[in-house]
Amino acid sequence: MNTTITKTVQHPRNIEQIITGQPVTEGAGVKIIRLVSQPLHRRLDPFLMLDAFRSDDPNDYLAGFPDHPHRGFETVTFMIAGRMRHRDSAGHEGLLQNGGVQWMNAGAGVIHSEMPEQEGGVMEGFQLWLNLSAKDKLSAPWYRDIAAETIPTFETGGVTVNVIAGASHGIEGAVTRPVTEPLYLDLHLEAGSGFEQALPDGYNGFIYVYRGAVSVGDKTVAERQLGILANNAASDGVVLQAEQAARVLLIAGRPLKEPIVQHGPFVMNTEEEIIKAVSDFRHGRLAV
Ligand code: FE
Repeated sequence: MNTTITKTVQHPRNIEQIITGQPVTEGAGVKIIRLVSQPLHRRLDPFLMLDAFRSDDPNDYLAGFPDHPHRGFETVTFMIAGRMRHRDSAGHEGLLQNGGVQWMNAGAGVIHSEMPEQEGGVMEGFQLWLNLSAKDKLSAPWYRDIAAETIPTFETGGVTVNVIAGASHGIEGAVTRPVTEPLYLDLHLEAGSGFEQALPDGYNGFIYVYRGAVSVGDKTVAERQLGILANNAASDGVVLQAEQAARVLLIAGRPLKEPIVQHGPFVMNTEEEIIKAVSDFRHGRLAV
C-alpha cells in the first residue's frame, strides 16, 4: 500500500452497517454463507463477493465446485481447515489446505474445479472476489498457492496478525497487488486485546468476525457478521477491541470507480463484454 503505516490511529472509522450473510448453495451443492454480493458492489468496490463456508457435515461440501469459468477479476481463497484440490484449464494443479491461501487472477479466462479432498471432518474457509481494472480484465491468468507457513505473521499486544496481502505495522504480506492495493489480514485476538490498523481514507473496507466478537467504536460485530467500515475523509484507520477471544478478517482496498457488470462468474465493465464472455465460453474460447 502506498501509505505511511502509523502505529497510532487518531481518528478511527466507525461501523457504518452490519451485514448478516445469506445461506446459498453453490457449485454442485455446497452450502455457503454469502456476505458480499451485487448490492454491495459499489459500496465495497473493488470487492465483488465474500463467501464463508464452515461445516463438519460432509454432505454440505463433498459435491465441491466442478469445472466452471471465471473472467475479469481475481479470486482469493483462504482455507482455515480442510483440503481442496484445484485444477484448471491451463493444466495447473494445487492443493489448498489448513491455513493456506490461493490467489488466482482469472484475467481473460480460467476454467477450473475446486474439489474437497477429504471425506469427513471440518471444512472452513472464505472466498473473496477482487475486481480487476478495465485494463487488466483480459490479462493473462495466473495463480499462486501460498502455504500457511509462508504467510508473514507477527504479534502485537495479544493479537496474532497474519498478513495475507498488503502491509501491516511495517510487515509486508504474502501478496502485493497494484491498482486495488488490497489489504487482507487474518487477526487472532486474545480476550482483552485490541488492534489498530492504518487505512487510507479513500479505501473501502470491512471486517468479518468468524469467531467471538469485536467492537469498533460503540458497535459490536458478532460472530458470522460483517461490519462495513465507514469512509470519512478525516479518518486514518480502524481500531478493534476484543472483550472475548476473537478471529477477524480485516479487508480493504482502493476502489476502481469503474462500471461493474456481473453475469455469474464473469465481471466486466459493459454488457457487450459480458455477451462476449458468455459467447467465448460457449465456443470454447474463454480459456486458451
Ligand atoms: Fe472458482
